[in-house]
Amino acid sequence: MKFEVSSLEINTNERIEILDITDKVENIVNQNGYKNGILNLYVLHTTAAITLNEYEPNLEEDLKRIIKEIFKPDGNWKHNLIDNNAHAHLASSLIGNSRSLLIESGKIVLGTWQRILFIELDGPRKRMIKIVFIGE
Ligand code: ZN
Repeated sequence: MKFEVSSLEINTNERIEILDITDKVENIVNQNGYKNGILNLYVLHTTAAITLNEYEPNLEEDLKRIIKEIFKPDGNWKHNLIDNNAHAHLASSLIGNSRSLLIESGKIVLGTWQRILFIELDGPRKRMIKIVFIGE
């Protein structure tokens, strides 16, 4: 049984941005020879999130729109009195900052349209994702 931790660093370019990190995570799985187990990904930040969904340009725009509509970057949030990014903390909390994935026969098991999406909520920034593997 292996227990290994990898890091994935990414640079974001926009305040709210969605990046497909599936290929980068697959590279880590391949390079480390992970065969069967559980991969847990989590972002080391309070203003970013991670989800699994389709990576399609219109849906990407819809997702950014609903984040802005629900979490209102210009909203009258108390946290904005000390730091102008309450929307990002709130969205990170509700979308979630981690996901667990099944690795089977050396492949990440995903549905046909599922991709691993990193959601920047207060960029641009340098971001760190930890990838924990438990398995063989
Ligand atoms: Zn803040």
